[in-house]
Order: sequence, then C-alpha cells, then structure tokens
Amino acid sequence: MAKYKFTLKERRDVAEGTMAFVFDTSGAPDFSFRAGQYVEVGLENPPYTDEKKNHREFSITSSPEEKGIIMIASRMRDSAFKRSMREVPMGTEFAIEGPYGDFSLHENIQRQAVFIAGGIGITPVRSILKDAAERKLPHKIILIYSNRTPESAAFMEDLEKFEKMNPNLTVLATMTDMENAKNPWEGLRGRVDADFIKNNIGDLSNSTYYIVGPAQMVSGVGAALESAGVSRDDMRFEEFSGY
Ligand SMILES: Cc1cc2nc3c(=O)[nH]c(=O)nc-3n(C[C@H](O)[C@H](O)[C@H](O)COP(=O)(O)OP(=O)(O)OC[C@H]3O[C@@H](n4cnc5c(N)ncnc54)[C@H](O)[C@@H]3O)c2cc1C
Repeated sequence: MAKYKFTLKERRDVAEGTMAFVFDTSGAPDFSFRAGQYVEVGLENPPYTDEKKNHREFSITSSPEEKGIIMIASRMRDSAFKRSMREVPMGTEFAIEGPYGDFSLHENIQRQAVFIAGGIGITPVRSILKDAAERKLPHKIILIYSNRTPESAAFMEDLEKFEKMNPNLTVLATMTDMENAKNPWEGLRGRVDADFIKNNIGDLSNSTYYIVGPAQMVSGVGAALESAGVSRDDMRFEEFSGY
C-alpha cells in the first residue's frame, strides 16, 4: 500500500477532548481517497512512547473535493501516541499509509442510506456527507448521531451546514447523558435502540445502514437494528478498535 510523508499544517479543538489535525498533501498529487476511507497515521520519532505502536488508524474526515489537504479527528486520550500528536510542532512530518477501507456510500440511488454514528465515529460520515453535499448526490440520507453530551459532539455545526446545503439529508442528533452535560440541548435524547430506530426512521426497508464508532457501540446498534427487523445483509460496519 502507498506510503506518504505529510506535514502537520493545522491542529484545533473540535469538541471536548477531541482534536482535528490537518495534513498538507500537496506534495503528493497521486494521493487520492474515497469519502469514508481511513489512513494509518504514524510518527517515526515521537516525543513520547509506550509499549504500544507508534501509529493509529484514523478515518479521513475532510472530503475528496478539498485538494492539497486531509483532515482527521481524534479523541485525545492520554496514550503516549496521542500526547505526541498533541504536542509535536507544526510542520512535523507524519508517515501516512493508505487509503484503506470500503466504508463508502452505495451507488444505487433508489436505496436510502442511514448512517448511525457513535461519538468520534462521525469522522468518516462527515466526509461522506460533505462529499454528497458538494457533488449534489441524489441519495436520500439520514444520519443518527449519538453522543453523551452536546459538548462532546464533534462537527455539529458542519453537519447542520451540510443539511442546509443538501435537501436529501436529515440529521438526527441524540444525547445519552444529559444529566452530566454542561451545555443545553433541546433535541432528541436517549440511546439508539430498536424503539429509537423505529420511531425516528419509520419504514426500515429499502435502506442500507452504516454503523460506525467504538466496537461496543457498533455491535449494540447492529443487534438493535436486527431486533427491529433489519437484515444483516443491509448493514455495513466500521469498528474503531482501540476504544
Ligand atoms: C478503521 C478505523 C478507523 C478509526 N478512525 C478513528 C478516528 O477517526 N478517530 C479516532 O479518534 N479513532 C479512530 N480509530 C481508533 C484509533 O485508531 C485508536 O485505536 C484509538 O484512537 C485509541 O488510541 P489511543 O492511543 O487513545 O489508545 P491506546 O489504548 O493507548 O492504544 C490503542 C492501541 O491498542 C491496540 N488495541 C487496543 N484495543 C484493540 C483492539 N480491540 N483491536 C486492535 N487493537 C487494539 C492497538 O494497537 C491500538 O493502536 C479508528 C480505528 C480503526 C480501526
């Protein structure tokens, strides 16, 4: 698989405990990806190390239309690798491998796409929704975006913007832990279980379901969809192992 060296161009907070990283890809005109794919991101001489490896997988959260950069976003836990990512200076060279994966929007425009993203699982979905809005794709798309609290929900403003740009997109965000929230929330509450899915999507047939996030969330939502009557053949999964 292709290997690249991309330098860090920008780093910023995008939610509580969550940072986005932008890499300069302009020196590699052959690098391309499909919305929804991921890359392996590594540091050759990180300032901090532990017994774990010096690379992690991250979904690309920018869209293919954005030329000369890619953006990823990460939950910033206290592992040596994440500490290194947080502290290395701008211009640091990262080793990037990929792109990998086939978590991409289906082609059949007669089928609705239902994305169910848990927390940081929004990263590949942001790329797909941005791409759909920019290329004016005709697919009907519903996003169910589940977070514990509003302050931990990354990219909410961007998602609202894509919804305004794309008449075929509906964004349904839900919070599962408002008791511990700092920011107010007027929208949906509660976990994504079989009742939530039936109440908010209505007719469950003729849709392809894309479930993405930490492994436990992915298996829980897969089981909920199954008990709501959705066939496993109509589900696609992207598990963020390591959480
Ligand atoms: C396809 C894919 C896309 C991802 N996209 C994102 C993203 O966009 N944003 C994001 O924040 N995270 C993403 N992740 C998760 C990310 O790669 C890290 O695993 C996660 O951020 C935890 O890293 P850490 O340094 O915080 O934790 P640590 O626990 O210090 O390190 C996690 C490391 O432990 C190992 N590990 C632990 N559990 C497992 C397991 N169940 N299976 C395999 N290895 C394991 C791995 O070596 C992993 O690198 C993705 C993972 C995958 C597989």
